[in-house]
Amino acid sequence: MDKVKVRIAPSPTGSFHVGNAQSALYNWLFARKNGGDFYVRIEDTDKIRSTKESENGIREALAWLDLMPNGDFVRQSDNLHKHKELLERLLSEGKAFYCHHSQEDLEAERQQQEARKEAPRHFCEHKNTDKNKIPGGIIRLAVNESSGRIISFDDQIRGRIEFQEALLGDFSIARAIEDPLYNFAVVADDAEMGITHVIRGEDHISNTPKQILIYEALGFKIPFFAHLPLVLGLDRSKLSKRHGGTGTLDYKQDYLPEALLNFLGGLSYTFSKEIITKEEMVNEFELGKIHKAGAVFNVEKLNWINSQYIKQLNNLTIKQLTNLPEMLDVAIPLITERLNKLSDINDFSYLWKEPSYDSELLNWKKFTKDEITNSLNETKRVIENWNGSDKDSLRLALDDLSKKLGDPSIPLGASRGLVYWPFRVALTGKEKSPDPVDVAAILTKETVLRRIDTAINKLP
Ligand SMILES: [Zn+2]
Repeated sequence: MDKVKVRIAPSPTGSFHVGNAQSALYNWLFARKNGGDFYVRIEDTDKIRSTKESENGIREALAWLDLMPNGDFVRQSDNLHKHKELLERLLSEGKAFYCHHSQEDLEAERQQQEARKEAPRHFCEHKNTDKNKIPGGIIRLAVNESSGRIISFDDQIRGRIEFQEALLGDFSIARAIEDPLYNFAVVADDAEMGITHVIRGEDHISNTPKQILIYEALGFKIPFFAHLPLVLGLDRSKLSKRHGGTGTLDYKQDYLPEALLNFLGGLSYTFSKEIITKEEMVNEFELGKIHKAGAVFNVEKLNWINSQYIKQLNNLTIKQLTNLPEMLDVAIPLITERLNKLSDINDFSYLWKEPSYDSELLNWKKFTKDEITNSLNETKRVIENWNGSDKDSLRLALDDLSKKLGDPSIPLGASRGLVYWPFRVALTGKEKSPDPVDVAAILTKETVLRRIDTAINKLP
């Protein structure tokens, strides 16, 4: 059995799509599982649309996700001389030929076929004439039009897939001897690299019968094929910019790479557990267990997975990732318990700097400003008598205060609000926060007293 060799072949013409990242992960997992090699081939032959910036983005995304290939990137453009050599060989063997039909001829033929409701294709009478080796026009593969053959392959995910050879026509493989088309270049490069398993998106299924015929014409061993389901948006159409971020690096700011990998891995595969490392995925991975149906990219799910990874971070890492060295260690568990995305950490900035808020926020329900001021003054007295660390005693004291301030006609819940609401706003500047008693225990007694004074001074 040949050593397993797999690859991804992204074009450096835009951002590295999360679907590409998923494909990279499944290729990587398959290589690891089978002791094989994972390669990256940059399909950079489109000189106009290819950019160095995009290639750097692919490199950065793969490095971030720790999915680096064996060896350096392979460039399709480095292989152009080989493509030419192979095209010349097919031409000399009569397996490929020059088609001298004009665009107009081909278009007229296509329209007639459409009118007859036939598959558009071109069987070229030039292939058996002496015109067939005269350069000019596009190069086509000679396909047998009277063949009743069914071209089939056993897709490693989908099972047997079949196409009729006679429906393909003499399809084009190069615009000119030095300008190969996609299907030809892919076959030439995959064969050159010794790729054993082509694992790629399902949008390539229709290319596969053409590629099989090219492999056969060249006399190369046909690899196994596996076509991955598409990554879909919430509306079940192919994930695109209008669904939000589609570039892998769009997620770098808010998500941990382990979390994004975990999410992408589980999108089209059912692992034994929801939170799973890359190494654990390797142990469980089998190509045949990849789902056939498209997978919905649900950001809520990604956020949940991310939150699970954030909880496991140590204090130093979270300070480095968020670039907040001033964060108190004692505050970190309170934050990481509640964080879905790294940038949401700014919602907790009151733990390391004074909050700013509008004085209106201190008002609660129908209470007057005098009642709120009184509540804050009484709370201040409770804090002055507090040891600064015991949360249970502070809760008891604040509950007693609630009963004391509360009108017997008001339910205790409402009078608790009269105490806890302005206390929360004074400490955090927010309507919603973790329990203000937990916040107080982190902030230290002096800071709590100062913030209550600030709140009282804001009230007229
Ligand atoms: Zn022709």
